[in-house]
Amino acid sequence: MKLKNNFPWIGRCINKFNVTNIGRNYDLTALLQAIDRADCAVKEPDDSAKRIQVMRMQQDEMWTGTLCGGEARWVAARTTLTVEEASRRHQASPVAAAAIGRLMTGALLLAATFKSEGEITLRLLGDGPLQGVLAVANRQGTVRGYAKDPQAAVPLKRPGKLDVAAAVGLGELAVSRELDNGEYYTGTAPLVSGEIAEDIAEYLLRSEQIPSAVLLGVKIEKDHHIAAAGGLLLQLLPEASESTVQALEERASELQAGISQLAAEEKDMDGYVARLLGDHPFTVNERRRVAFACSCSQSKLADILIRLGEKEIAALIAQGKAEIVCHFCNERYAFAAEELRALQERAGSAQEKPYED
Ligand SMILES: [Zn+2]
Repeated sequence: MKLKNNFPWIGRCINKFNVTNIGRNYDLTALLQAIDRADCAVKEPDDSAKRIQVMRMQQDEMWTGTLCGGEARWVAARTTLTVEEASRRHQASPVAAAAIGRLMTGALLLAATFKSEGEITLRLLGDGPLQGVLAVANRQGTVRGYAKDPQAAVPLKRPGKLDVAAAVGLGELAVSRELDNGEYYTGTAPLVSGEIAEDIAEYLLRSEQIPSAVLLGVKIEKDHHIAAAGGLLLQLLPEASESTVQALEERASELQAGISQLAAEEKDMDGYVARLLGDHPFTVNERRRVAFACSCSQSKLADILIRLGEKEIAALIAQGKAEIVCHFCNERYAFAAEELRALQERAGSAQEKPYED
């Protein structure tokens, strides 16, 4: 049983910034400022467009199953396009893209083990320059996420190695599960490293008493595109034998340096899962497609405005228009003065109604 206690620290995050000539003094902030969304759209080179087309043909997926004769379960996700979408939407710095990508992938892995159809929310409440990272996923494979300061940049840990822990800082990980009855269960654990995979493993052990190995990786190209992203969760089921504990520990250790590299090399999910699980016989129980998707819409944001009340809407009308930006996906919703007036009326009539439960 001693091994079980040692198991959770085998959480590993690997991110590679694919630049060989990058040095400690390289100013990523300046690099980022030169690239705004409009520039990217206009200056996208031809081979990049072709590459994105090839990437789109490869769907992101999440598979679950068991191994070691049913004494353990695994969830493997490939999230390259999903992380690329999040990074593009938030115009994220490389370290922010890595943190958002790891957390979104981690949220998907946890959601896959979740019996409820509801959402799972991971909040990384660290005091680093990212000022917190949040991801929401469900077991159907839908995920969204953001960092409070997606442009935050920190010095590289060493050439080519992003320092996610420094960007996240010290704090805690809070995990909220939406249960089928509509209630939420929230558990927290202190951040053990800020590298995210280890923090999720620590949470699973402390709060849910499930010994787990979590591996997350995001590989980022020189041009800030996501080359590959993926994750693996290995969990011991109750009554797992010592040999299973040892087998999983060994597997997690063997894989520690290469999950994003594997996701980059293995173009189909079969090959990716086979490489992740190695020689261990495994079953596949479920296959899901994975995609970045947000639940926001013009009408949802209109409802939020209505809830703000007549007075607040009047202030917006005085400004001539309102623009609301969704935190999760950075989508902008504009409301013209006449639309605001209509909402103001609805807010007025809503206030006149008696309270409903
Ligand atoms: Zn949104």
